[in-house]
Amino acid sequence: MTRIGLSITARSPLLLTTGPPAFNLLETMDLIPGNTIRGLLARRYLDQGGKAEDDTFQNLFLKGGARFGFARIRGAQVIPLSARSCKYDGGFKGDGSHGMLDLLLGSEEEKRCSKCNQAIDYFEGYYNPTTYCREEVCTRLITRTAIDPVRGSASHNRLYSQRVIEEGQTFIGTIETTEALRPALEKLLAGKFTAGIGKGRSRGQGWVEVKECKTPDPLSKTNAADRAARFTESGGQLLAVTLLSDAIFQDGYLRDCTAPDLGHLEPLGINPDQWEPLPGKTFAASRLVFGFDGEPWRLPRVPRLAVTGGSVFLYRAKTGLEPDIPRDNGIGWIGENNREGFGQAIIWHPFHYQPAKEVVS
Ligand SMILES: [Zn+2]
Repeated sequence: MTRIGLSITARSPLLLTTGPPAFNLLETMDLIPGNTIRGLLARRYLDQGGKAEDDTFQNLFLKGGARFGFARIRGAQVIPLSARSCKYDGGFKGDGSHGMLDLLLGSEEEKRCSKCNQAIDYFEGYYNPTTYCREEVCTRLITRTAIDPVRGSASHNRLYSQRVIEEGQTFIGTIETTEALRPALEKLLAGKFTAGIGKGRSRGQGWVEVKECKTPDPLSKTNAADRAARFTESGGQLLAVTLLSDAIFQDGYLRDCTAPDLGHLEPLGINPDQWEPLPGKTFAASRLVFGFDGEPWRLPRVPRLAVTGGSVFLYRAKTGLEPDIPRDNGIGWIGENNREGFGQAIIWHPFHYQPAKEVVS
């Protein structure tokens, strides 16, 4: 697998909706999902004169020869859901705030801000894993009225609002593919090009500038075995699984579930027989994923349940067992829909033992 970075800069407001299609308040997502990136590159391929029947098109976009990761603001990562910070001046030390705590490891006793000793609170969003500073997506609310098709003027009682991503912000994602397909992807990304994504393109929304860029990825250079040594409990090994992107898990009866089971963790090099089947600690959230089928059906898909990025699951090794520790960087893909960026996970995320890492420049 080889990796190609992709930068997408908003040149007009972006509306990438999450909710059911008909609603009078539409909220945008604060990231660009992998299937949107796959779609814009497939369109680019056809615009460059390629055909949907080509082997390259089939392999890149339909047969799973490439994995299109989610693009996040300036290449940021999701803050794990086990993170907490000061209730009154919450945030990273690098941003001048009181610093972060993480509840995954350690005792259950009450924790307070290490700087001012006040209560702590949830702290969600994105951060830069190199500088340990917060990254935020700027959005704004646009309110419009529907146009009456008969009179051609504003329609009464049909006001609607849309929360959009503001223009000027850059999102960075990674595409993983085979060496054989790399030249084709590089050709698609050569130079800069403009594309339309999301809703409201007839009103000038959704215009983005796309180009190749470096992949910012400090986590992939670290070693899982080194990190695992920090996750022990009175001698026993613990396994922390942290989702880097939203993930979709199905049980044996094809029902969506809200947590991975041990079988789902095998792609990360985990042997399911060596760990207790249920997580001892969990910090998780979920959302529904909506979508439409393409031609010729054009019907809404059955909504899927996704466990959101940042969710954390902590498993214990079976008593008396010395479990196998993977030798790679411990980052991999689990669950369903991996080629659309769902299910990127890391074992023994360093955030859990250094939530307030001080960066020496
Ligand atoms: Zn404080």
